[in-house]
Amino acid sequence: MTERLTLMAVHAHPDDECMSTGGVLLRYAREGMRTVLVTATRGEEGEVVDPDMDPAEVKPKLGDVRVAELERACQHLEVGELHVLGYRDSGMVGWEANNHPDCLAQADLQEATGRLVRLMRTLRPHVVTCYDENGGYGHPDHIQVHRMTVAAFHAAGDATQYSALGLAPWQPQKLYYTAYQRSYIFTRYELMRSMGVPVPSDRPDFDPAKVGGTPDDIITTYVDVREFLLHKMHALQYHRTQIAPDWWFTRVPHEILREKFGLECFIRMASHVPVEGPEDDLFTGLR
Ligand SMILES: [Zn+2]
Repeated sequence: MTERLTLMAVHAHPDDECMSTGGVLLRYAREGMRTVLVTATRGEEGEVVDPDMDPAEVKPKLGDVRVAELERACQHLEVGELHVLGYRDSGMVGWEANNHPDCLAQADLQEATGRLVRLMRTLRPHVVTCYDENGGYGHPDHIQVHRMTVAAFHAAGDATQYSALGLAPWQPQKLYYTAYQRSYIFTRYELMRSMGVPVPSDRPDFDPAKVGGTPDDIITTYVDVREFLLHKMHALQYHRTQIAPDWWFTRVPHEILREKFGLECFIRMASHVPVEGPEDDLFTGLR
């Protein structure tokens, strides 16, 4: 029996799954593949922006609230399996939460990697996604997710590593980093300006050298998710504690979303199947 093709997306916090991988999760589920989302933390350090909620009341139980939001978003994205690892959110660099003994940034890398190796050997994904070495934008939890996922990708297929798990080795075939096209950032600024939203590049202290994003020329893979954009936006809005109902991005007309934000971008970092050059599909070489 051939294995059902499986995508495993590894993320740091509830809501991270939507922006960079919401489209591919839904697209591949609709194509009959199995989709797995691993979310490392429960997002306890997030803000509470929902005007219908009292932050003082919600904050102490924010982890539970955000996991419930994540479950609803996953249903909407037709995610086959959700695994929340349950580490504590480390907050942004320099926050007190960075020192909490249960937070992801403090986790032992070997132990954290082992949790992913266990999932990879059990669920047998063919394609794995995570963040780049900067965690996309420097968040300590995203950087830790990068480290543990890359380590697990290379360890899961090696019988000499994590043998105490008692599980047969499984080598995922392709590893990707999620990417945010640098040229998109300027597209977004133009869009914000046209919608009357304050634009970072109009601030006097704006430094174009620090604009972030992924240089377009290192992106290998653009997946067309235009058909799934409405679902992706709805899934994002299930994260009510995080996404203010009046956030400008939720007001972007659908045809503009389709035209400007209809691709999810990735960098192919490893492949055990022969592929070269640009791709429009994470499963190129595996179908
Ligand atoms: Zn995050």
